[in-house]
Amino acid sequence: MEENKKKVVVALGGNALGSNLIEQMTSVTDAVKPIADLIEEGYEVIVTHGNGPQVGVIQDAMTLLSRENPEKHPHFPLSVCTAMSQGYIGYDITNKLREELLDRGLKGDVSCVLTQVEVDPQDPAFRHPTKPIGPFLTKEEADRKAMEKRHVFIEDSGRGYRRVVASPEPKSIIEIDTIRSLADAGYVVICTGGGGIPVFKAENHHLKGAPAVIDKDRASELLAEELDADFLIILTAVENAAINYGKPDEQKLGDITTAEARKYIEEGQFAPGSMLPKVEAAVKFAESKPGRTALITLLEKAKDGINGETGTRIHA
Ligand code: ADP
Ligand code: MG
Repeated sequence: MEENKKKVVVALGGNALGSNLIEQMTSVTDAVKPIADLIEEGYEVIVTHGNGPQVGVIQDAMTLLSRENPEKHPHFPLSVCTAMSQGYIGYDITNKLREELLDRGLKGDVSCVLTQVEVDPQDPAFRHPTKPIGPFLTKEEADRKAMEKRHVFIEDSGRGYRRVVASPEPKSIIEIDTIRSLADAGYVVICTGGGGIPVFKAENHHLKGAPAVIDKDRASELLAEELDADFLIILTAVENAAINYGKPDEQKLGDITTAEARKYIEEGQFAPGSMLPKVEAAVKFAESKPGRTALITLLEKAKDGINGETGTRIHA
């Protein structure tokens, strides 16, 4: 155990992982480099990742299978699809990161933990779905699927239409002790993929899968607090969060306080389901204990960002 290492929870954007298996294999090869940079700089790193596009693809494939032969292949719940996504994304990140670390002459001990996250069945999110999953569709495709499958679709930040599902608040991380033990023992841990497998605590010790996708930024924030991390780094497709995003007077945000971030949240500057959960997670983390800093930046800029050279840094 190395006591004086700064601890960093790094959340990898789902969209940065590519939208199919071939894309994922090449994207992850690049995505592990900034993570290896942080490890090389001497940080203790815990990695989480999104699964928006992937869980949608898995769910679509499973829906086809059970529609063809419902007796042989009964319905696959969304929670099971999230578990599958943790497996196949975690598999890729584990191996690519191990390879990158060993190539740099570092220890290649990487461990992926299947992670369940408790949610509340009374969470109002179950009545108001907000979380985009699956591929981007045209308006016509979305309208057709909405009719056929009774799914709900929204327009996602000017990039097309996506299905939305319930995104409840993460309450607790079931495997937190395992994750902490592995991280303390010097392993690079990959966990809480796709925001974790959402579960309800049922009678006795039963955990029941919940029909939801937890936002990975919110789950990563909870993880960072529980692990007593110094930094929460949210790596995504933009270098900075911005105000007046996409407008002629767009302004990138650099170093800001949580009070400033709250003001922008109230003004509605960040899109729900994409940038809003990141800024909210950043504010929550930065305010959870003195000295904690959150960073939102581009995947490739993780090292520059942690060194204060770029990105949106949020502190109390
Ligand atoms: P990830 O897969 O990394 O979670 P998301 O698509 O959920 O990525 O969120 C990042 C996206 O949020 C950006 O690529 C951008 O299109 C969108 N976005 C919405 N509002 C803003 C804003 N105010 N500033 C920057 N990006 C924004
Ligand atoms: Mg997202």
